[in-house]
Amino acid sequence: MNVRELATRAAAEASRLRAKYGIGPSDAVCPFELADRIGLSVRLIALSSLEAIYAREPSPVILLSTERPAGRRRYSCAHEIGHHVFGHGTCLDQLFDDDPGAWSSDEFLAHRFAAGLLMPKIAVEAAFDRRGWSLKSPRPNEVYVVAQNFGVGYTTLIGHMECTLRCVLSSVATGLLKQKLTQLRSDLAGFQIDQDLLVVDDHWGERPIELEIGDVAVIPPSAGFTGACAIRKTKPRVHIAATISGSGSVALNNSRSIEIRVSRPRFTGLARYRYLEEPADAE
Ligand SMILES: [Zn+2]
Repeated sequence: MNVRELATRAAAEASRLRAKYGIGPSDAVCPFELADRIGLSVRLIALSSLEAIYAREPSPVILLSTERPAGRRRYSCAHEIGHHVFGHGTCLDQLFDDDPGAWSSDEFLAHRFAAGLLMPKIAVEAAFDRRGWSLKSPRPNEVYVVAQNFGVGYTTLIGHMECTLRCVLSSVATGLLKQKLTQLRSDLAGFQIDQDLLVVDDHWGERPIELEIGDVAVIPPSAGFTGACAIRKTKPRVHIAATISGSGSVALNNSRSIEIRVSRPRFTGLARYRYLEEPADAE
């Protein structure tokens, strides 16, 4: 199979899997949840030199490095789901090479499957369109909001829009990549952000809001928050700050309620337990 055929096969399989599990064409996906539903257990462990591992035997499991940023872990999880659905054998993924030309066909297939699962063309177009933002010449803050909505990294979304979807020119992508993320986060929040920042707007969708302790999510001014895992603050902009492991919910204007999940940074163990509430005397 040539590269184009592999890309077509990967996108088709991602689309088939989304449909099989009732994920709408423009919905964002939580790959951890999807892996669970497929029967793949996902475990977070400290892997300093590896991105992720997929092992088929004795029972299928995905191991993800806690050393990587949250968006990267989700992308790696989707990539390893790809190895699973394509029937590949046990696979040790080192830090991904940025040059797709250096990849084996299995790696290319898993990579494009992950992109198709997390950021299908129709979903990316819809995410910009429903916010009234330009897909061809987006601003850095707009790309950031959409990337966080899909749960992927800022640079990952830009690379996907430039090289796979081909909806932005290289010159536009280069300009977007010059943006300093620390500055962007602080500008969006209205105060200095030391960890991660999400912007949850009325277009967020169904995917749970996933935070680590110390992360912040800007929410619409009228949105309410219920739960003990975060604190809602009103200044300088209405936001919630994640404080302890646990879950809660954010009620948006359109009366939809979105689950919020908070985990410890560098949590190790089964991914499905990452936001279980901890006893008050836990360290
Ligand atoms: Zn791989």
